[in-house]
Amino acid sequence: MPDYDLLLLRFGEITLKGRNRSRFEKAALSHVKALLHAFPRTEAWKDYGRIYVVLNGEPAQQIIQVLKNVFGVMSICPVKIVPSQLDDIIAAATSFIQDRPEIRETTFKVSARRVWKGFPYSSLEMNKLVSKPILESVPGLTVDVHHPAVDLRVEIREEETYLYSEVIRAAGGFPLGTNGKAMLLLSGGIDSPVAGWSAMRRGLEIECVHFHSYPFTSKKAEEKVIDLARVLSGYAGKIKIHLVPFTEIQTVLAQSGHDNLIITLMRRSMLRIATRLAENNGALALVTGDSLGQVASQTLSSMNVIGRATNLPLLRPLVMSDKEEIINTAHQIGTYDLSILPYEDCCTLFVPKSPATNPNLNVVERIESSLTQLDGLIEEAVKGTETLLIQPGEAINRDSEEEPVVQEKWF
Ligand code: ATP
Ligand code: MG
Repeated sequence: MPDYDLLLLRFGEITLKGRNRSRFEKAALSHVKALLHAFPRTEAWKDYGRIYVVLNGEPAQQIIQVLKNVFGVMSICPVKIVPSQLDDIIAAATSFIQDRPEIRETTFKVSARRVWKGFPYSSLEMNKLVSKPILESVPGLTVDVHHPAVDLRVEIREEETYLYSEVIRAAGGFPLGTNGKAMLLLSGGIDSPVAGWSAMRRGLEIECVHFHSYPFTSKKAEEKVIDLARVLSGYAGKIKIHLVPFTEIQTVLAQSGHDNLIITLMRRSMLRIATRLAENNGALALVTGDSLGQVASQTLSSMNVIGRATNLPLLRPLVMSDKEEIINTAHQIGTYDLSILPYEDCCTLFVPKSPATNPNLNVVERIESSLTQLDGLIEEAVKGTETLLIQPGEAINRDSEEEPVVQEKWF
């Protein structure tokens, strides 16, 4: 493995967005700088649509793993820096390839670029001058100028020359917060954390809302959701979570006697509360982990009746994704193992035998207006919401004593 000196970070699609470009690049750079606090010798700046991170001896591989999570960054190239002298470039390029034993019996090419026009050899001449000694010294290597397995870039600048070949994919999307703020309805399931990460990748700042039915749901279940928020905070630096007491609303809805509509009714109340919290916290949209057809409450018909409980845009990043794709992303972003912990959610406590897949909006609205106490309870739930600021770091120790879940019936 070559000893890298610098990381070169490239932006994705944001470079296309003319006027916003500078704002986006600044946001990505400040995210990078925040993550580099843990590596105090590094220096970072941006120039012409790239971010440069000088390592000054800090560990390249570890930093790459961290910076891969910066939204808006499309790729990372680890770079070796050499003096802009022909002999130095040739010697370093040769050992750059020799030091990587995986590059044998394969195809390669050299792509030189003369950024500094004062350098005495043209790019074409450099391609030949650099590739010749490499071909002679590395067995089994052949040149393929069209589809090489290894493309060795030689970027010649006045002060120094950059050598790099590896292009590591990063998160892509838009830098954090550059597209505004949204409220994520975060359950303890697999889907909503993935939806939250997808929303963040589109440049949304996220605050989380979680509905709990303590004491019917346990403190452990709540800790699990806080831990999920903590994983998400690793992509944002910090994240707020609003914990909403939902027990009374759930009890009233359960007592209304409309078994098959209970999930529809619960979701609508959740959306109302989340909308109020969004308004109070300057968020302009709600995000959920709904995926079309996955369960009864996620049929088109259910989504329609549920979605009408809010005037805010309801964003469902996973709506067209297959479960397998969602699970893959959950593994990738580090939420899967937490999501499958077997703590109950307020909705799993009460699963009707035959939940409505085709609820009727008029019927649902009539039930709600017959529940005269509902508006007041929604108001109280908003007032009783507890807000925590979560930061990356140690997960909650789950070995602490469990508080008993009250296994009473709902009605
Ligand atoms: P998830 O895996 O995210 O729980 P799911 O497939 O289990 O999703 P549902 O349980 O029907 O689906 O929930 C649909 C969406 O409603 C969730 O993705 C989440 O956004 C929201 N939601 C459900 N329960 C809660 C809760 N207790 N607190 C906050 N949001 C919730
Ligand atoms: Mg769920």
